[in-house]
Amino acid sequence: MLELSGPPVAEAVYQELQTLLATLPYVPHLRVVRLGDDPASVAYVRLKDRQAKRLGLSSQVDVFPESTSQEELLAHIARLNADPEVDGILVQSPVPRQVDFNAVLEAIDPLKDVDGLTPVNAGRMWMGLEALESCTPAGVMRLLKHYQIPLAGKEVVIVGRSNLVGKPLAALMLREHATVTLAHSRTQDLAAVCRRADVLVAAVGKAGLITPEMVRPGAVVVDVGINRVGQNEKGRDILVGDVAPGVAAVASALTPVPGGVGPMTVAMLLYNTVIAAMRRRGRPTGERLQAAR
Ligand code: NAD
Repeated sequence: MLELSGPPVAEAVYQELQTLLATLPYVPHLRVVRLGDDPASVAYVRLKDRQAKRLGLSSQVDVFPESTSQEELLAHIARLNADPEVDGILVQSPVPRQVDFNAVLEAIDPLKDVDGLTPVNAGRMWMGLEALESCTPAGVMRLLKHYQIPLAGKEVVIVGRSNLVGKPLAALMLREHATVTLAHSRTQDLAAVCRRADVLVAAVGKAGLITPEMVRPGAVVVDVGINRVGQNEKGRDILVGDVAPGVAAVASALTPVPGGVGPMTVAMLLYNTVIAAMRRRGRPTGERLQAAR
């Protein structure tokens, strides 16, 4: 079984970005907005901020209280949209109940939408147009490309239909000429649908949902899920994916959790930040841009 490890691929993205950054007469600036103190969001935001700085980008985290109103958040986004020094805006989800995340996404300037989640970028992805692509789906595609997993003409089954992962990943898989099925909570006989897959992607958030019987022998399995199933003796969260351990014995290739898709998500966020800066502020030659894709 081939382990589709994320960190070496993420590192390759960072090296390409470093080469690109050296050619730019400016430092791209990322602004991450976080509301409240959800522990997972705090950890993700810290990771994104640290990686951005490690790469040599300028990064700032704007923290607002849990009680922030939608109007206050939209006013802040309007300021970031108007600020010429800000290249990328990311609002960490989940947001508190009083805030409509879709309204937040609609307010973000699509040219600064480094999470690739605004309706404009989501629509452009479906149309096969140049877009800031959703980070996790773009990371999955980059990972599969790196390990030379063929997609054209293959049966790809994606379990999970969220706007964050499942739907945009379907758009990117379609662009690579896969035959795509989106399965979800109302899918009947999920096991039979999954067994059709040459490439099976689990993006649900339920530990152990994908069992060995649901995987065709030799299939490639991508585990996007991140589930906290307890803490170790050092008080650190124990993380597992959506794929049960026994699947490793059936699949030909599998992404580990942690250390698979997660690092790719962060890498693609920073890729998007550099690309967004280049598109807004002027870009070097198309040749260099191509090298980073
Ligand atoms: P979500 O809750 O928005 O969507 C979950 C999807 O799973 C829904 O479309 C739902 O229909 C489907 N689903 C629920 N129960 C099901 C079942 N029993 N059978 C089949 N389908 C079912 O979640 P999300 O934001 O898309 O995230 C999914 C998982 O991916 C979570 O564990 C999340 O933490 C993880 N995630 C990981 C990364 C990463 O970088 N690795 C990034 C984003 C999300």
